[in-house]
Amino acid sequence: MSDLETQEIKPENLDQHYSEILHRYARLLELSTDLASILDLDILFRRIVDAARELTECEAASLLLYDAKDDHLFFQAATDLLEEGLGRTSVPTDNSIAGWIFIHNEPLLVDDALQDPRFFREVDAITRFQTRSILGVPMRTKDKTLGVIEAINKENGRFDQEDRNLLESLALQAAISIENSTLFQQSDIVAEMVHELRTPLTALTAVANLLQRPDLPNEQRLNLARTLHTEVNRLNGMTTDFLEISRLETGRTRFYREPVHLGGLIEECLQVVRAQAEEEGILLEVNIDRSIVPVQGDRNRLKQVLLNLLTNAIKYNQIGGKVVIRLKQKGESLLLSIEDTGRGIPEEAIPHVFDRFYRVPDQERDAPGTGLGLAIAKRIIESHGGTISVESEIDRGSTFFIRLPSDTSHRMDTKPLSPHPRLPN
Ligand code: ADP
Repeated sequence: MSDLETQEIKPENLDQHYSEILHRYARLLELSTDLASILDLDILFRRIVDAARELTECEAASLLLYDAKDDHLFFQAATDLLEEGLGRTSVPTDNSIAGWIFIHNEPLLVDDALQDPRFFREVDAITRFQTRSILGVPMRTKDKTLGVIEAINKENGRFDQEDRNLLESLALQAAISIENSTLFQQSDIVAEMVHELRTPLTALTAVANLLQRPDLPNEQRLNLARTLHTEVNRLNGMTTDFLEISRLETGRTRFYREPVHLGGLIEECLQVVRAQAEEEGILLEVNIDRSIVPVQGDRNRLKQVLLNLLTNAIKYNQIGGKVVIRLKQKGESLLLSIEDTGRGIPEEAIPHVFDRFYRVPDQERDAPGTGLGLAIAKRIIESHGGTISVESEIDRGSTFFIRLPSDTSHRMDTKPLSPHPRLPN
């Protein structure tokens, strides 16, 4: 570790020096105020790294969070230059500069990372970025350390005491903002969930009341028992989805990373939905390019996304309709589309279909659902560095598109550990 030095300033340059420092602190204040007002965690993480880079005048910055369950750090955000292919790469606590900062709970400045035995080289291999110098600080709240912010490659000269002070102040504000935003999101989701639970609970109460009537004909009793069963199933599905979306939205979902062959995954999903499609006389057509390479991702979660899209394509289709699944390689990306011949989505509803709890109003009655499937799918795909979108035409059908980055790690001889994006609870 090199000492954090205080630069020698010539007396004639003192004025300018202090005016520069003042300017940087004024900017820190502006950026901190900005962070405090952001409630979306993804946007917040991004702003924190951008602020870290700007304040310390360096080439790149990153934010790593600590996952207590598996005792490691993982990249949660990075500025553009570093971001490429980084995903949520895992970093060990015992053999990395970030790990050292986290464990010792103090800042560290490394002038020449390549000469430092703690430097974790895999990150440079993945991002193709060349790290020279690192200034890292822990991100602490009152009672715990959430992770580490690192500024990388000072643009002119070396990181100094002023950079360290600024980054430490920023980290303090960042930690508070992350905690606030996490709390806010949790309370928001809880309120919405409780609201959504009201409908099935009202139905169940009504059924329970009716079932108690001694004069109820047997046939009615049977009907009510069926309704009861359906509503309980609905509640069950809802609670699973609630848990899933709340974990995803507060960054507590654990994602595993492994090469996933989407072609095989599609076949598996088709087995699951085939019976449902046959019941409705819906034809399933598959068109998979031979040249596709795997994606790097969480197999079960990607399967969950595919199943949701396929189920929707059948559920919102018409009797005797068709679903076409296409998968092709386009450069470094995999393109998946699921096209149906269903009722389509009204133009004004399209911007909302990925919102949680949103269901196109008139469709609610004839197809069961929670309105969470697409919101969950969007979160999962974005966590894989991908995008999901939809095009639709009323009475003609809808096509959902997924773009995912191909797995490039198999070409680089590096093996990122399973990252587990978790926010401190
Ligand atoms: P759910 O199906 O549980 O309601 P989703 O989040 O999967 O929830 O979908 C949200 C809404 O988007 C659905 O309620 C439906 O109105 C609309 N939708 C989704 N997929 C399709 C589709 N393939 N065709 C027509 N509408 C769809």
